[in-house]
Amino acid sequence: MNNFSSQKLTTLDRAHVWHPYSAMDAEQPIYPVVSATGVRLTLADGRELIDGMSSWWCAIHGYNHPVMNRALQTQMENMAHVMFGGLTHPPAIELAQQLVALTPEPLQTVFFSDSGSVAVEVAMKMAIQYWHAKGQSHKQRFVTLRHGYHGDTFAAMSVCDPVTGMHTLFSDMLTPQFFVDAPQCRFGEPCTDAHITSLVKTLETEHQHIAALILEPIVQGTGGMRFYSADYLKRARALCDEYGVLLILDEIATGFGRTGKLFACEYADIAPDILCLGKALTGGYLTLATTLTTDTISETISSGEPGLFMHGPTFMANPLACAASLASLQLLLDSSWQQNVQRIARGLEAGLAPCRSFEPVADVRVLGAIGVVELHRPVEMKTLQPRFVDAGVWVRPFGKLIYLMPPFIIGEHDLATLTQAVTDIVADL
Ligand SMILES: *Cc1c(COP(=O)(O)O)cnc(C)c1O
Repeated sequence: MNNFSSQKLTTLDRAHVWHPYSAMDAEQPIYPVVSATGVRLTLADGRELIDGMSSWWCAIHGYNHPVMNRALQTQMENMAHVMFGGLTHPPAIELAQQLVALTPEPLQTVFFSDSGSVAVEVAMKMAIQYWHAKGQSHKQRFVTLRHGYHGDTFAAMSVCDPVTGMHTLFSDMLTPQFFVDAPQCRFGEPCTDAHITSLVKTLETEHQHIAALILEPIVQGTGGMRFYSADYLKRARALCDEYGVLLILDEIATGFGRTGKLFACEYADIAPDILCLGKALTGGYLTLATTLTTDTISETISSGEPGLFMHGPTFMANPLACAASLASLQLLLDSSWQQNVQRIARGLEAGLAPCRSFEPVADVRVLGAIGVVELHRPVEMKTLQPRFVDAGVWVRPFGKLIYLMPPFIIGEHDLATLTQAVTDIVADL
């Protein structure tokens, strides 16, 4: 594809390319990837790495999948893109129909957008427009959990954890929202009154101003990889109904099997009023996100003032991205993904268990195809990242967390290599 050496690529990258959550500096290591197949990334210098990240929750079927590739080639020959205002197309219609069929029953309408953050913006606008249409325009604020993460655009950022989301930096630009304590009841444990007091109190005093509660069900991802009680989620749903507040579930990270259920809200057997999906939606091929809602909400918005929903991205429902999603869904549903995720959970549990006895380790936890080693202190990326690469694995820690979430297709041996690399490197910290 290119004739640049690995060295030359790295030098040019350092000079001109800004990477996620990073400074333009020569300090942090950066690795050019030239191809990826199955669970392996091939670096420009010829080295192969086993992927432990699924490219941030996305690549559930691994890379360069023949079925995915074929679906995209076919769609490309029909059309790569067409505007969505006044026009529609089969991939969008089919995808909407399938998402409605797979998600909890009350969700009947799909709004397409191009990234998770935008799907969250759309969800928040829907909630505000819903109350506005009902003559309750005083309900424009949101309540959310500490340690949450919902994206990087301004409205999404306003509901991210105030500390890790660096709210002080943007204080004049961010809408102040209501933050309640993150659930302290772990996954599998009951939720007591004490665990949910903070949410109860805020709803009690502020519900007239609150459009919706937004949270990540069961797994708080980027804000700390915390797994919490399904019971908490159940009670949160009931509280929303009691106080006349909508429930927005952000399943952008948890959706499509990662936690062991197709959607994490199934653990609590609840349905949200608004649901955000993204990341693994396209199997990691293209960027696409959706915001689903109920007939009640879509009809209320459509029949109230101003009679339309105020959002419409240029690349809305991009046909290539929709075709990728359809192929990815088909692959997922035709596979024995539940057994696969359980097999990965067992491999992660067995492989990471030795870390529990290491001094720098605060906690080891596994849920579905997510394995987390939490340390007492933040890692030093500059020294840690090359060690994982030298061990032949792609693992990207952040803060105090070293975590694995491999593609669902990973084999036993590769999974063992991943957990062994983590164990060896943590043992040596
Ligand atoms: C990644 C993520 C987002 C943001 O998605 P982008 O596609 O990066 O904009 C929002 N919410 C959750 C829970 C996420 O994990």
